[in-house]
Amino acid sequence: MKPSKFAYVNAKTLDEALLSLKQPEAKIIAGGQSLVPLINYRLSQPSTLIDISSIIELSQISVQDHKLEIGSLVTHNQAITSKDITKFLPIISFALEHTAHKTIRNSGTIGGSAAHADPSAEWPLLIMLLDCSINIISYKNSRTILAKDFFISELTTDLKEDEIIKSFNFPKIKQNYGWSFEKIVQRSGDFALFSAGSIIEIDHNIIINSKLCVGGAGETPIRLSNIEAIIKGKNIESNFDITNDQFLSLLNPTSDEHASMEYRLYIGPQVIRNVLINSIQNYKDNKND
Ligand SMILES: Cc1cc2nc3c(=O)[nH]c(=O)nc-3n(C[C@H](O)[C@H](O)[C@H](O)COP(=O)(O)OP(=O)(O)OC[C@H]3O[C@@H](n4cnc5c(N)ncnc54)[C@H](O)[C@@H]3O)c2cc1C
Repeated sequence: MKPSKFAYVNAKTLDEALLSLKQPEAKIIAGGQSLVPLINYRLSQPSTLIDISSIIELSQISVQDHKLEIGSLVTHNQAITSKDITKFLPIISFALEHTAHKTIRNSGTIGGSAAHADPSAEWPLLIMLLDCSINIISYKNSRTILAKDFFISELTTDLKEDEIIKSFNFPKIKQNYGWSFEKIVQRSGDFALFSAGSIIEIDHNIIINSKLCVGGAGETPIRLSNIEAIIKGKNIESNFDITNDQFLSLLNPTSDEHASMEYRLYIGPQVIRNVLINSIQNYKDNKND
């Protein structure tokens, strides 16, 4: 099928893009990796496509005192190869190496992935896991929203039609920590059937804080606040005694053509256990370096 007719604007500045976005049924295009298939199937029929891929100010990664700010046009590959991201938040570079295929990673962007809001995708999971806040701009206003308020349901976010995501604030992690990410797929490059990421902050072998998030387990990436609370204050050598029911209590997976709900519930506890154990091992390995 061919796309329906649309006008095309190659925006060179954010102002130009925001002004064009005031037109009815206009839509932003960044890397085009999710939007172009939707347009080709006529699941999306924009009147105007506003191409933001030339707006240089959206492609920056900047390191500040307490955070990394990642521009919305930063591609998956740019994040994988960024020295700053690899230094401060290596889980991002690692997880994105498992995203799609090289050509897609060269074009797909953090902003596009977040706005598309596939609950099995890597960026939404990382954004939720890392307590990211999102800088959004429209022609008249700008605002910052927490990740937990941004992702509403599958393919739905809090973004309004006249808004563009400018950048993402990723707080730096202050304490010593270990991290891990695991993704279950049928074939390399596929979306996750189930995925999990964790960050465990440790002081003198005691877990002082933890972040744990799963993908493919519900309508949005889900933070496992119950498990985070259970392990807080525990010694890293202790047996956490977490039951499968506790691992599953916040999950709400569905069946689709790739995997059944039952399979996701079966694999979930094992994947979550793995990232917990591997995060602690990652901490120990780095401590001994
Ligand atoms: C075969 C294939 C396999 C894939 N596998 C994976 C995978 O394993 N894991 C994974 O995470 N992803 C996967 N993807 C998706 C890929 O990562 C996309 O790049 C990403 O989801 C969208 O980024 P984009 O820049 O291409 O967005 P686009 O396709 O350009 O846009 C997507 C949506 O976001 C909106 N948008 C884009 N930028 C902005 C902005 N700055 N502000 C507001 N709205 C914006 C658009 O209007 C559109 O609605 C796959 C894609 C394909 C085609």
